[in-house]
Amino acid sequence: AKAQMFDKDANVNITFKDVAGLEEAKVEIMEIVDFLKNPGKYSDLGGKIPKGALLVGPPGTGKTLLAKAVAGEANVPFFSISGSDFVEMFVGVGASRVRDLFRQAKEKAPCIVFIDEIDAIGRARSKNVGYSSNDERENTLNQLLTEMDGFGTNAGVIVLAATNRADILDKALLRAGRFDRQINVELPDLKERREIFDVHLKNLKLDPKLDRDFLARQTPGFSGADIANVCNEAALIAARNNKKQVEKEDFLSAIDRIIGGLERKNKIII
Ligand code: ATP
Repeated sequence: AKAQMFDKDANVNITFKDVAGLEEAKVEIMEIVDFLKNPGKYSDLGGKIPKGALLVGPPGTGKTLLAKAVAGEANVPFFSISGSDFVEMFVGVGASRVRDLFRQAKEKAPCIVFIDEIDAIGRARSKNVGYSSNDERENTLNQLLTEMDGFGTNAGVIVLAATNRADILDKALLRAGRFDRQINVELPDLKERREIFDVHLKNLKLDPKLDRDFLARQTPGFSGADIANVCNEAALIAARNNKKQVEKEDFLSAIDRIIGGLERKNKIII
C-alpha cells in the first residue's frame, strides 16, 4: 500500500475536555482557536494572526492531542505530517511533499497543519557540505520556510509543530512570522496525573473501591501516554485473569510493566 504521508481527519472530534491538565498551554492555545473561529475580529483592527506555534515538551505529554483539540474546538480540518517521515527520502521528494501539503491546506483553510517531530527536518542547517541525505533534509526545511513565508498572514492556515528539542532547531524557524510562539507542554504533576487517570479510566469497568489518588501517587515521572498505557494494560491483565472488573492489583502490575519498559528505553546500549 502507498504510504500515507499526511492524514486529514476532516472532522476531528477531540476537544479540550480530552486533554487533562496542561492548563497554561490550553489558555495559550485557546487564542489560536479564536484566531481560527473569528479571524475578522483580529484582521479588522489590522492585527496579524500568527502563522505558527511550537509545542515543546517531553514525549507523550499530549502535544499531538492538544493540536488535534485545537482543530476540534475550532471545527476545522487537521492535516498532519511527521518530520521523521522525511528521513531517508529520495532527492526532491521531501520538498514536494511539503508543497503538496500546503497546497491542500490552503484550499481547505481555515485549518490546522500539524508537524510532529519537527526537529527531524528542522535541525540547524550545517555550514559545511553534508551528505546527500542531509542535503535532502535541508531542501525539505527550506521548502517549509518558503511555504510559511508564502501564505499571507491572515490566510487561515495555522501551523503547529511539536518537538522535544527546541534547542537544536534552526533559528530561521523561530523567526517572526514563522514559529514565533512557543507553548510548553510539561510532564504532569500529581494533580494532573490524577486528572489524566480520570480521562482514561472513564471507559473501564472498575472496582468501585479503586483509589484514584493512589494511582496518581504511584506514577511520578509518567507522561500522559504512559498513564493511558497503564489503564489499558490494567484492563488487559484483569481480563486475562477472568475478572469482571479492573482492580488495584491489576493497576500495580500494569505500573510495574510500564516502569520496566521505561527503564529499558532509557538504558544506554554500548
Ligand atoms: P510525542 O512527542 O511522543 O509525539 P505527544 O506529546 O504528541 O508525544 P500525544 O501523542 O499527544 O503525545 O499523547 C499520546 C496519548 O497519550 C494521547 O493520545 C492520550 O491518550 C495520552 N495523553 C497524553 N497526554 C495527555 C493528557 N494531557 N490528557 C489526556 N491524555 C493524554
